[in-house]
This record gives sequence, structure tokens and C-alpha cells, in this order.
Amino acid sequence: MFNETYTEEQVERVLNGVGIEPASETESNFMVFCPFHNNSRTPAGTVSKEKGLFFCFGCQTSKNLVEFVMAISNRSYFESVRYIKQKDSETDITQLVNKKLYVAPEFVQFDEVLIKRLNNQALETPRAMNYFHSRRITEASINKFALGYSDKQDYVTIPVQSPDGMTIGFVARSIEGKEFKNTPGLPKSKILFNLHRVRSSKFIYVVESSFDAIRLDQVGFPAVATLGANVSSVQMDLLEKYFSDVILVADNDEAGSTMIERIVGKIGSKVSVVNIDKKYKDIGEMSDEEIKKLEYKFDNSIVAMLK
Ligand SMILES: [Zn+2]
Repeated sequence: MFNETYTEEQVERVLNGVGIEPASETESNFMVFCPFHNNSRTPAGTVSKEKGLFFCFGCQTSKNLVEFVMAISNRSYFESVRYIKQKDSETDITQLVNKKLYVAPEFVQFDEVLIKRLNNQALETPRAMNYFHSRRITEASINKFALGYSDKQDYVTIPVQSPDGMTIGFVARSIEGKEFKNTPGLPKSKILFNLHRVRSSKFIYVVESSFDAIRLDQVGFPAVATLGANVSSVQMDLLEKYFSDVILVADNDEAGSTMIERIVGKIGSKVSVVNIDKKYKDIGEMSDEEIKKLEYKFDNSIVAMLK
């Protein structure tokens, strides 16, 4: 029962049937207002189209489709199973017509109240603050970038925005270990972290991780992060559109080399590659003083890095 798969149409009919209308959708999830907490501004709940799994980023409730139907409609377990099964074969003409007319928006507004709450939780939790400080992230940056902390999952959260500055979700990483997690359906390949704050700059530093972009910002350098070494063509289009000079500071590993190759291959004439000292894996391991030595000069030269 817990690993049941459904069709997208079936899941949508089940939701509609219990009075839950998806507010929007991504490729793999329906976004819904959470019925388990007071959620009215932007939808905090997701229901996966394939498995029918409900999860709320606000109150952290998670349920499979049967449990969800039981909780919402007061059906018993067996009534819920039967109800869902019956929604499998039903065809709904209105639904088919709506589907054809519906064009998914490129970006969907994420819950700002939740971002603020996670941010407050970070500021109030010594464990989170110690973690940020160990990464040399200042309290000013925690405020500026609305960095957050979820104590239920022991993750720090980094909100991400569309190129126009609309908050569309967050990336999260575990304090223990090095696990990454995004809000469902986050269109990571269509954005650059921090772009909306720096897009009027003529030149830009490009790094892989959001924390590295924040470190550069702390010493006064405009920076964006690709949120992964696998840079997409949309991300390179964004770099090309907004900046005349691209200063690429890749990590000292194989993925970093691939990132250099891809970006230089596509927009090479605009790109200066900065090699950081081999003793560092990435910007995150460097001190502010060392990062400042990467300063970009308008005569198109870069102060050589420590050798
Ligand atoms: Zn909720």
C-alpha cells in the first residue's frame, strides 16, 4: 500500500474529490494549500503525481494518499482505498479540457512566511549559528540571504529566487554529513543563486555553491552560484545576458574542471578562469584575506592567486 503508484490524473481526481484543488503544479508535484495547518498565503503542501505522497514544508506533515484521504474526508481505511481505486477509471471531460489549456508558469512563488520562520529559527538556534560561523558566514549574511534552519530535519536552508527576485523555494543541506535537499520541483537549472541582487553589475564571479557566493559577497564581490557543477544552457544564457565579464572560480576537483570546460566552451570570450591554490578545495576553505586577492581589475587582469 505504501509504495503504490498512480497516474497523475488519478491523483488529481482524488484531490478534487476531497475538496483539495491544486494551486499550481510542477513536473512531478501538485502544490496545494496544506489542510493540516493554517496555510493561506502560498501553498506549502506538495502531493507527488506518481506516488500520491503528501508533504507539507510548513508543518512537516507527511501522508500517503490513503492516509491523506482518510484524514481529509473521514473515510475509513477500506473506504479510502476503494475511493482511490474508483478514481482510476473515471474520466472527467472538464479535467481533460483544463489540462490542455493549462500552461505551467515558469516560476511559482514560495511561502515567504515559512522562509522568515526558518530564518528566525536559525538566528535563535546556537547549533545553526555555530554551523554558519564554522563556514565563516556572518550574521549579517544570515539576515541578508534569509538563511534558515529546520530543527526537525537538522538542515540549514538557503532560499533561492527567480532572476526577477521572486522566492521560489530553498536548497537545504544537513549539518551532519553532507546531504543536500531541495524543495520539490525547484527549477535549479533555470536560475543562478543571488542573480537578482547583482544583475546590474558589469562583471560577475561565478561559483558552484551558494555558500561560496555568500563568502564572495561578504568581501564585496558580486557573485552568483550555479548550485552544481552541471551548468545548464539556460544558466549560461543568463550569464551571457546580464554580464560582460564572467570570472569563473571553479572548485579544485573533477566536477570543477567540467564546469570550466562547459562555460568556457559556450561563452568563452567573456570568461576569465581563476585557479585557486591547490591546497584548497573551494572558496569555502579560504579566509577573507585570501579571497580578497581574487579581486577583479577592470583592465581585465586578476591578481594572481597565492602560489
Ligand atoms: Zn502543513
